[in-house]
Amino acid sequence: PKSHQGRIAFVTGAASGIGKAIATRLAREGACVVVADLDLATAQAAAAELGSTDVAIGVAANVADADGVQAAIDATLLAFGGIDLVVNNAGLSLSKPLLETTEKDWDLQHDVMAKGSFLVSRAAAKPLIEQGMGGDVIYISSKNSVFAGPNNIAYSATKADQAHQVRLLAVELGEYGVRVNGINPDGVVRGSGIFAGGWGAQRAATYGVKEEDLGQFYANRTILKREVVPSNVADAVYVLTGPELSRTTGLHIPVDSGVAAA
Ligand code: NAD
Repeated sequence: PKSHQGRIAFVTGAASGIGKAIATRLAREGACVVVADLDLATAQAAAAELGSTDVAIGVAANVADADGVQAAIDATLLAFGGIDLVVNNAGLSLSKPLLETTEKDWDLQHDVMAKGSFLVSRAAAKPLIEQGMGGDVIYISSKNSVFAGPNNIAYSATKADQAHQVRLLAVELGEYGVRVNGINPDGVVRGSGIFAGGWGAQRAATYGVKEEDLGQFYANRTILKREVVPSNVADAVYVLTGPELSRTTGLHIPVDSGVAAA
């Protein structure tokens, strides 16, 4: 059997970029997948690319809205009868210098990423605990949760918040056999809606490079000198949620082509 056969995965922000790559990989490994994203039609279209509605469905869920999150988890239980793999991936970035970061910017970033992932983990924890069969919760945090970069305070602070949610929930859910781990990607420019939607221009301006050269710029500052693509992050989700790392919880795996001190 495939490694994730019989598993039921709920992936937020899965209609685009990294989330879509994760949903695709989990479906390929045999999991049933719920594609949760802001827009229903887009989520359903992404799910349809994974297979028929017996193996993949799309649901509309704004992760910043507790009722919407609960409805999406309920829809998952109704469609597939359980849930045992949750990926907190939904996100956005409005990265700006400190003096230009508004209270609204701060609140939106924290609503979607810090609060949103808390709401999703909380709503999913109930069935995960009740089912008594263990499971996985994954957070797509960021290299920015550990390293400080310029013009990024609101985004990076939410990523650090997510990183600590990983450690806290690893402790709280461990007794139920639920593993909670994080992934810290960096520089996933190609295929990322965040980069295409304005962040790329902002980051390019911050680093003094052309936007079309940003992927190569990120690659050049790494140890491996290789661009990171969404499927590299999906590979890490596959490994972290698979049988080989069954005694690993509370960990963050960097997917960033390597960071050197100098
Ligand atoms: P993306 O824009 O392609 O994907 C983000 C998805 O989240 C979109 O489909 C969007 O509609 C959805 N989303 C946004 N707000 C939402 C909400 N309130 N509720 C539900 N869904 C919502 O961008 P991506 O680069 O694939 O980013 C995915 C995740 O990876 C984000 O959490 C991001 O912070 C993280 N990340 C990305 C990089 C990178 O280099 N691209 C690096 C580190 C971390």
